[in-house]
Amino acid sequence: MTESTTASRETLGFQTEVKQLLHLMIHSLYSNREIFLRELISNASDACDKLRFEALHNDALYESNSDLNIRVSFDKEARTLTISDSGIGMNRDEVIANLGTIAKSGTREFFTQLSGDQQKDAHLIGQFGVGFYSAFIVADKVTVLTRRASEKTDQGVRWESDGGGEFSIEMVDRATRGTEITLHLREGQDDLLAGYKLREIIKKYSNHIVQPILMLKEEWKDGKYETLAEDETVNQASALWARGKNEITEEQYKEFYKHVGHDFDDPLAWTHARVEGKQEYTQLLYIPGHAPFDLYDRNTRHGIKLYVRRVFIMDDAEQLTPQYMRFVRGVVDSADLPLNVSREILQESKDIEAIRKGCTGKVLGLLSDLAGNDKEKYAKFWGEFGQVLKEGVGEDFANKDKIAALLRFATTKADTAEQSVSLKEYIERMKDGQEKIYYVTADSFNAARNSPHLEVFRKKGIEVLLLSDRVDEWVVSNLPEFEGKQLVSVAKGGLDLGSLEDAAEKQEQEKQAGEFKGLTDKIKTSLADKVKEVRVTHRLTDSPACLVADEHDMSGNLARLLKASGQKAPNSQPILEINPGHPVVLRLQNEDAHFDDWAAVLFDQALLAEGGQLDDPAGFVKRINQLMLEMGK
Ligand code: ADP
Repeated sequence: MTESTTASRETLGFQTEVKQLLHLMIHSLYSNREIFLRELISNASDACDKLRFEALHNDALYESNSDLNIRVSFDKEARTLTISDSGIGMNRDEVIANLGTIAKSGTREFFTQLSGDQQKDAHLIGQFGVGFYSAFIVADKVTVLTRRASEKTDQGVRWESDGGGEFSIEMVDRATRGTEITLHLREGQDDLLAGYKLREIIKKYSNHIVQPILMLKEEWKDGKYETLAEDETVNQASALWARGKNEITEEQYKEFYKHVGHDFDDPLAWTHARVEGKQEYTQLLYIPGHAPFDLYDRNTRHGIKLYVRRVFIMDDAEQLTPQYMRFVRGVVDSADLPLNVSREILQESKDIEAIRKGCTGKVLGLLSDLAGNDKEKYAKFWGEFGQVLKEGVGEDFANKDKIAALLRFATTKADTAEQSVSLKEYIERMKDGQEKIYYVTADSFNAARNSPHLEVFRKKGIEVLLLSDRVDEWVVSNLPEFEGKQLVSVAKGGLDLGSLEDAAEKQEQEKQAGEFKGLTDKIKTSLADKVKEVRVTHRLTDSPACLVADEHDMSGNLARLLKASGQKAPNSQPILEINPGHPVVLRLQNEDAHFDDWAAVLFDQALLAEGGQLDDPAGFVKRINQLMLEMGK
């Protein structure tokens, strides 16, 4: 990708995604332009945290200056703004990787989602996180000078770009470690060249940053500000999570979230607590307002930062929350862990296990609070993260009941795709005599809603959960009951509606089973190995036939899901059930010549109706045409 080289200066091209990001950002984030400072200060703070952590094992990295701070300054004449830090810095390779590419997994997919609609894209880009590149919202040229702590020589790196397609990079002498970023402001950005304005932005967005953010003091004199040769700390510069709850404003909580969550938008909710006892730690955990773009990416990062006694230890400490809570962001600060704890140690640490249990409990508590007290927010949460929380039913045995209580479903009552009914609510309005929770699974909401298996339930006014998310089969296979009520598939086993049916109905069914014995036997013979059994059903009112899975067999939907994802599924045969009240079935009793065709069509349409795929679609079409011709005769 090298285009031109001089002695040490090279010009390199940005990765395509960076170009797209830059373009998009400059055009769609303009109304939020102040956030560039938050992003750059946030990076500077992370760089200081990293140095402090690395220096725990290697004191020499401080190079006899252990001050960790961030400095913001400006030059009115040159029209530049400079943000510098005494953090870890970057070497040449790191600069190229960090400021020339985007390393996040799923980046390409992310960019394919962009629509060109600026408002929509601005929102999406918030989910993606803008970071360093946001400097180009206000600058038409950015210069970075940096040197990694520990480089034996004074070799630093100078990076520069105008935010177009490329950047230049060269080695320079640099005595101090850390990074200095200079923004050459665009036309019309001169209001940023004022101390009070910068102070205001810093206080608004970066007050919570742990390191001091220094600016030169200013004094009001003769009708204007005069800069003094003395530093002052602009932010509060103490760990937000270590303060008491009543010392923190709502705004401060939100701004801190944007820093730890690398998010652009406000969080939905948070929980902040100091835990004492066997384990002592502080947790400040947030539920984001929207799902990140890579929520379902297997390699996605977890968002909890681990601190030990205020010292940053690591990002994305995935041991602190279970997988199904991977959307949670925040900070855990332990008073007990050793400072030299590594990821490997974390995996086996009993202390971490206790903290994880505590965090999990806290988040579940927060969610159940929301569910109880702020239905609107909870609905928003469910829309964003419900699919992920569902995984918890199978993953977190100890909390299964709590998670089950948080689940929300679409049901036949409202008959819309919105998932808003809790199991508790379902149970509360069960019909007299109803003992079970009924559900149907399918691969789309419409397929679930129109499933023939629902016919008798609709007729009797019995509510059924409509499950059509991929994870739902996993949920129901791990949730045999809720509050003593069994969860039962309407497409599995014999339909026993218990006392929802009266004696007369049951008698009628037995009678029909006898009357149709000849027909069911004949169909079974005709379909042979395709079905396990053929029997009369009372589930259907409108359809002539449907397929059900035997009690202990895998449902047709699950088998299809597994096969679609390349996994093995047992080839269990379904049971064909026929509707003794349906004219087609009645007609079949007197059919002889084309009986096999009728039987095959009956089977195939039952398979189609539940979203299955025909083995021989052409054969199906041929038979249908034949039958149509027959009817015309
Ligand atoms: P993010 O911070 O979300 O990773 P950025 O685009 O803001 O994304 O930054 C990319 C990377 O560049 C950072 O992860 C970090 O490694 C590096 N970086 C940015 N700013 C600094 C800095 N001031 N000091 C050291 N490294 C930095």
